[in-house]
Amino acid sequence: MAERRRFENEKLVIASHNPGKLREIADLLAPFNVEAISAAALGLPEPEETGETFVANAELKALAAARGANLPALADDSGMSVDALGGAPGIYSARWAGPQKDFNRAMEKVWRAVEDAMSKDGSVEPPITAQFVCALSLAWPDGHVESFEGIVPGRLVWRPRGVYGFGYDPMFLPESEVENGQLRTFGEMPPEEKHAISHRARAFRQLINACFG
Ligand code: IMP
Repeated sequence: MAERRRFENEKLVIASHNPGKLREIADLLAPFNVEAISAAALGLPEPEETGETFVANAELKALAAARGANLPALADDSGMSVDALGGAPGIYSARWAGPQKDFNRAMEKVWRAVEDAMSKDGSVEPPITAQFVCALSLAWPDGHVESFEGIVPGRLVWRPRGVYGFGYDPMFLPESEVENGQLRTFGEMPPEEKHAISHRARAFRQLINACFG
């Protein structure tokens, strides 16, 4: 495999306008002496997510921010893929929440679609398996980009539970909670516990091993 480019700057642009993601990425970056600057603080526009995969979208966001800021930039493209829905909402996870970014509505929409699938021919039944996927891309102004993907398997619960996290967290029960018998959704897990096992943390560990330190 080709050599990974290492990150050697003091500043890193976080190419996301999503406050939940920004908070989690800032927490994950805290141990590494890096000044994280949000794309919003620099007034950078959000590019249209025209890619067909998580990695393609993370790369186009990271490259746009790196070129716009003339600094290295890190972008996250992530979402929840439900097996019974052919992987939906997947790369469209944010769009299912509508312009108001209403994730109660998005979770309802996912569950209605699951109920529709269950009512069809009996081939879909609980557990309703799903994954959270996170692609992280680190791009440089010269167009070089390094990408990593983290996945956490789990299953959906209805109704949503918990006050922590963001997005679809309250309806997602990670498989590790089924194994340890605690049965907490990501929404019921304090941030430091979610950070230890999440898709974002898994992608982040690969990024750190390859490009930092
Ligand atoms: P995008 O990557 O900006 O297209 O948005 C991804 C969307 O996926 C977010 O708005 C959330 O709805 C969802 N998502 C991604 N990561 C998480 C997570 O850790 N918890 C809950 N929802 C997530």
